[in-house]
Amino acid sequence: MIRLSKSCLGNKEKEAVADVLDREYLGMGKEVEQFEIALTKYLGRSAVCVSNGTAALHLALQGLDIGYGDEVLVQSLTYVASFQAISATGAKPIACEIDPATFAIDLKDAERRITKRTKAIMPVHYTGSVGALGEIYKFAEKYKLRVIEDAAHAFGSEYKGKRVGSFGDVACFSFDGIKNLTCGEGGCVVSEDKKLLSIVRDARLLGVEKDTEKRYVGERSWEFDVTSQGWRYHMSNIMAAIGNEQLKNFQNVVDKRQHIAKQYDGYLSCNKSISLINNNYDLVVPHIYVILLSEEIDRDRLRKEMADFGVQTGIHWKPNHLLTFYSLGKKNELPVTESLFPRLLTLPLHTDLTENDVQTVCSTLFNQLSQNTRK
Ligand SMILES: *Cc1c(COP(=O)(O)O)cnc(C)c1O
Repeated sequence: MIRLSKSCLGNKEKEAVADVLDREYLGMGKEVEQFEIALTKYLGRSAVCVSNGTAALHLALQGLDIGYGDEVLVQSLTYVASFQAISATGAKPIACEIDPATFAIDLKDAERRITKRTKAIMPVHYTGSVGALGEIYKFAEKYKLRVIEDAAHAFGSEYKGKRVGSFGDVACFSFDGIKNLTCGEGGCVVSEDKKLLSIVRDARLLGVEKDTEKRYVGERSWEFDVTSQGWRYHMSNIMAAIGNEQLKNFQNVVDKRQHIAKQYDGYLSCNKSISLINNNYDLVVPHIYVILLSEEIDRDRLRKEMADFGVQTGIHWKPNHLLTFYSLGKKNELPVTESLFPRLLTLPLHTDLTENDVQTVCSTLFNQLSQNTRK
């Protein structure tokens, strides 16, 4: 079976984890501090590590004082994590359309949904690409919105010569088991906003003030104060140890992921039943490889048949406004998103895929497509 995605780890990660286990200090300490320093160096901005990407988004929003009564613009086509992070603060996620050319939030549509309660916009870097991020920042400036980039897919990607996270307002990354850079579980908030990062540092440790500094020298806070709502969202040394080794090897991951995506582009570009997402894989480090099937293709049948031939595929994702918890109660509310969704198909992408595997995926796809029509 060619897997859709998986964690790819080497001996260095195993040794680093064994080291933490041997020292018997599993919580948040030296390794987390080192990982934050390494991330800060890589991104050129301060990074604060947390337990996962959803927690990063939640704390970034909370740290910007977004909560009950506020609204946040976000594309419906994203992982439910983006929506849950917004609603966790008490704020309302406002589902928006995507621009079908880039899969980034459609600013014309977003503009129509602005109210006096709109406080922020959360662009989602779908597949690893940021779309016209400069336009999103202009839009945010015009309407005085904070920007929280859901950069879960985009670790390593570049925009106009700069790494995602190294510019802009706030970027949140995920280091879950299958993301570009993994800790097993993890995430981080990156920003120039010192006040925000200081709130995030305390809020990840149940709001215990200045506990981070104590833990990084192997101590605990016994005499402390809490002045705001916090969460148990800190990162553990085990996770950071994996992340540290992953980051040292990251250029190889970038090369491999970009190479696989270019290979897919090359094989798939001439099939009339397939449209590609137009990403420049010299700049984008793809987390997932998504194609658009033409309308007459029965995607669910195709997925089943490809699985029968040993190729796992995915669907990223069911639009959030179609989920009961976030549903708007109106049919055809986001027609572009709703018409694209049944056509989305994600092909296998991870760094242990060989060129042969990619060829197998493509030939299996071609074979099944040639037999697939809805009639
Ligand atoms: C993975 C992901 C997240 C959340 O990250 P976790 O580490 O899984 O909590 C958020 N947004 C998107 C688009 C993601 O793919």
